[in-house]
Amino acid sequence: MFDLNPNVPDDTLLETVRLPTRIRNAVNYAGIKTVGELRETTDESLVSIPNLGNGSIKWLRKRVGRARRSAKLMTVFDRAEAVRCPQCALAGIASFTTDEQASPRKIRLPEGFKIIATDRGNQVYCVACNRPAITLPMDH
Ligand SMILES: [Zn+2]
Repeated sequence: MFDLNPNVPDDTLLETVRLPTRIRNAVNYAGIKTVGELRETTDESLVSIPNLGNGSIKWLRKRVGRARRSAKLMTVFDRAEAVRCPQCALAGIASFTTDEQASPRKIRLPEGFKIIATDRGNQVYCVACNRPAITLPMDH
């Protein structure tokens, strides 16, 4: 274990550097494995990781800096879907932030809906009816 600093190479695994527990949990959750990935991740994406606040991001930036190249290792997609329960007709807008591998980074659901992991991936369910909601992609 060693301390992070701006000269640490991009391919350094985060598991080999000293990090506060909160930050370690947050980067693990987000699937960020190397110092380079951390440098490439924008502040906007970092702040969307649960339990990673502005204070933690400042702490990280001071120690890892930012990517010098403009190319991004990971592209984060935001998409929104209209969700509607086929039984009780409860409806709302769900938003998803995912990376290129489509692993979810952040999901925001309207009240009354929940996410259930199924064989076909994550499904939005109506909490009251316990039924999968109908989802329709929306233009931003
Ligand atoms: Zn319902």
